[in-house]
Amino acid sequence: MCAAMKVPLLDLKAQYATIRDEVKAAIDKVLESQIFINGPEVKQLEEAVAAYSSCKRGVGVSSGTDALLCALMTLGIGPGDEVITVPFTFFATVGSIVRIGAKPVFVDIEPDTFNINPEQIERAVTPRTKAIIPVHLFGQCADMDPILEIARQRNLYVIEDAAQAIGATYKGRPAGSMGTLGCLSFFPSKNLGGLGDGGMILTQDPELADKCQIFRQHGSKPKYYHRFVGGNFRLDTLQAAGLLVKLKYLDGWSERRRANARMYDELFAGCPAVKTPTIRSCNVSIYNQYVIRVGDRRDALRAHLTEKGIGTEIYYPLSLHEQECFKNLGYGKGSFPESEKAAAETLALPIYPELTPEQIRYVAGEVKNFLS
Ligand SMILES: *Cc1c(COP(=O)(O)O)cnc(C)c1O
Repeated sequence: MCAAMKVPLLDLKAQYATIRDEVKAAIDKVLESQIFINGPEVKQLEEAVAAYSSCKRGVGVSSGTDALLCALMTLGIGPGDEVITVPFTFFATVGSIVRIGAKPVFVDIEPDTFNINPEQIERAVTPRTKAIIPVHLFGQCADMDPILEIARQRNLYVIEDAAQAIGATYKGRPAGSMGTLGCLSFFPSKNLGGLGDGGMILTQDPELADKCQIFRQHGSKPKYYHRFVGGNFRLDTLQAAGLLVKLKYLDGWSERRRANARMYDELFAGCPAVKTPTIRSCNVSIYNQYVIRVGDRRDALRAHLTEKGIGTEIYYPLSLHEQECFKNLGYGKGSFPESEKAAAETLALPIYPELTPEQIRYVAGEVKNFLS
């Protein structure tokens, strides 16, 4: 075994090397046009991503965070309203709820999928509840049918945080296509990553899409006449042009991530110290992350892998209900035991499409060496 092998958590240069000429040509075309705002590529990308996700409409926005923010604004959610979501997610899911003045109400996750536990939603609903935000964490959809059923019965909106899940399916339905609105992120580390920040709101409702477009541009329609207060949530033409190139390759990249995951699964089979990801039979994951659970030796394992030149990350080390800025919500240690355990026991390994079998064997070998 080559001791000097380096395996980063993500290697965007390896991907860029395969599409360099196409991306440069697309960027150059925008540069020559000098149409940097609302250029034709934005609409082309909206139509292409909506079609890719089996949605009627897509509204390009400036980031996944702004997709969530703009979605909440469009649905008229604000002070006095409650939004149900999970504490085990990226900060933006909950930060967006707080920024529009609403109150996040947490429910715990399922220990095997790390996604929202639908059985706990019902008892979190109050007369103030306006929406549920399920997060499709690590590239696998949450258990949507029971969530959609509760939402239907209680007349709630469902905003899918599909930032990590473009192209993932649940019972054949794509992430972002099932709720009232779906939010995507094109942050460079997502499966469809831009040349900077970007995002999109998806929906089956053309009227809501039109309203998202209004909120994306300061709430104005026509120009300089405002019925609402929105923001500047536009997606740059340059980003759309780069993303249009990459979208063509997305299926192939996600397929290779799944192949890499299968290889890890096989290499970890018969190693009880490593709990590999559980993907429900009704789901197809895009493996934005491959997250293993290793118990209380997680931090020591991470240090070992770092020493061996292997990049890892902890998504996420402190459950959001324990964050200082959310103290006023009244939760504390022990409020959401599964989220807290996941934060303490899990580690993301390299899963990006360009990994070689040799690299995967090296990573798995070092994990097993350390734990056995
Ligand atoms: C990345 C991410 C976001 C935010 O997306 P940005 O484009 O970085 O603003 C929101 N939610 C989840 C679950 C994410 O992973």
